[in-house]
Amino acid sequence: MKQIITLFLAALAGQAQPLPITWYDGAGLDRGVADHTIQTLSRIFQQSGLDVQVRSGDPHEQEANLVLYTERRDVCRARRDIALRLRASAPDGMRGAVLAYSHPFAPGGVNVTVFLDRVEAAALQQRRPMSLLLAHVIAHEIGHVLLRSTEHSKGGLMSSHWNEHEFSLMPIGALLFSREQSRQIRRSLTGEGCRDAKNR
Ligand SMILES: [Zn+2]
Repeated sequence: MKQIITLFLAALAGQAQPLPITWYDGAGLDRGVADHTIQTLSRIFQQSGLDVQVRSGDPHEQEANLVLYTERRDVCRARRDIALRLRASAPDGMRGAVLAYSHPFAPGGVNVTVFLDRVEAAALQQRRPMSLLLAHVIAHEIGHVLLRSTEHSKGGLMSSHWNEHEFSLMPIGALLFSREQSRQIRRSLTGEGCRDAKNR
């Protein structure tokens, strides 16, 4: 029976849909922390049926420095992959609670930005490994992009504030997208409902 379950899981893993992420590190994140972060991130999205594919990008590239502030909520023009920018510190004037932000409707440029100084401070405060918190912060922001929403849920990975409950779920791999969120994320990636999805 155990073998059957293992084979079944392997089959599921084989069907996982790719989630492409271009990783623009403009902050010189420690290699070990980056590796652990990507491992944790992969595990989170694997539970949603997605296989994270990280490509390292040059942070001097044009795309890495382009932020399109779009008011237009055009889901079908929004990019369906992730361009992630890691910044060493938050700009002056950025609210203290903000660890990262996303642009769910951006048709190009960076759609997820993370401030490593903020994440590191929060990890220290919560006494959690930096990579653990960073992976969940990135997953949350990717969630906004692929759920095409700036809204938050009442609790869980997509809540606006994580309390002790959410922090306690992180190390046991249980702070995840809900089944419905996972389904919506997979739909966004395939461009379901968009006429020219195949051309993008
Ligand atoms: Zn959020």
